[in-house]
Amino acid sequence: MTDREDELAANLAKVRERIAAACSAAGRAREDVTLIVVTKTYPASDVRILSELGVRHVAENKDQDAAPKATECSGLPLSWHFVGQLQTNKVRSVVGYADVVQSVDRARLVTALSKEAVRAGREVGCLVQVALDAGASERGERGGVAPGGVAELADLIAGSPGLRIDGLMTVAPLTGEYAGRQRAAFGRLMDLSTDLRRAHPAANMVSAGMSADLEEAVAAGATHVRVGTAVLGVRPRLG
Ligand SMILES: *Cc1c(COP(=O)(O)O)cnc(C)c1O
Repeated sequence: MTDREDELAANLAKVRERIAAACSAAGRAREDVTLIVVTKTYPASDVRILSELGVRHVAENKDQDAAPKATECSGLPLSWHFVGQLQTNKVRSVVGYADVVQSVDRARLVTALSKEAVRAGREVGCLVQVALDAGASERGERGGVAPGGVAELADLIAGSPGLRIDGLMTVAPLTGEYAGRQRAAFGRLMDLSTDLRRAHPAANMVSAGMSADLEEAVAAGATHVRVGTAVLGVRPRLG
């Protein structure tokens, strides 16, 4: 193995152990939590190594980085998740490789995604990104719709050709009433998920938790954790 293969294998083993420990502490089955490795800013060669190490889900947050990487890795058995703020002019490109867009936070984006999914003949899974620090009708600073806007957006997705409503995503807020209270934030997301599943029973994905707070997310009930730094290392630049 190369040094990088050794490093990624060791980091991945640690993260998998953390998830397993968090599941057992919460009395949850290990297979109820899926690891998504956030490969943003890291090269396609790392994605290839991760695939060989058994990773099946990767996430990216910038189309300009993700599109060439996804093309280079198109032969690998991977699901691609888009988790960044998404401009409508990037939607056609993103729909070309993304299996799931986790950052759906406005009606205009739903319309654009639907149009491009139909054009491409693809079905794209969508998560509504919830901003727990947003005011009633606002969007969050890092994207996301306020809790009060989730139901309407989910209905719109469910009624849009080419799209599937899969669930909810959040990033633990840095400001507002949930700042520094990851467990409470993720608990709130779970309540919103319960509400969502009344209208859309199959929309049971709950994407929450990153390198620093995956334990809190698993304890709250997250089905998917998105881990970057703990697997790949501290990113060389902001992303
Ligand atoms: C970068 C990123 C992550 C991963 O964060 P780490 O702290 O590196 O684990 C998770 N979710 C989103 C939306 C991200 O942009």
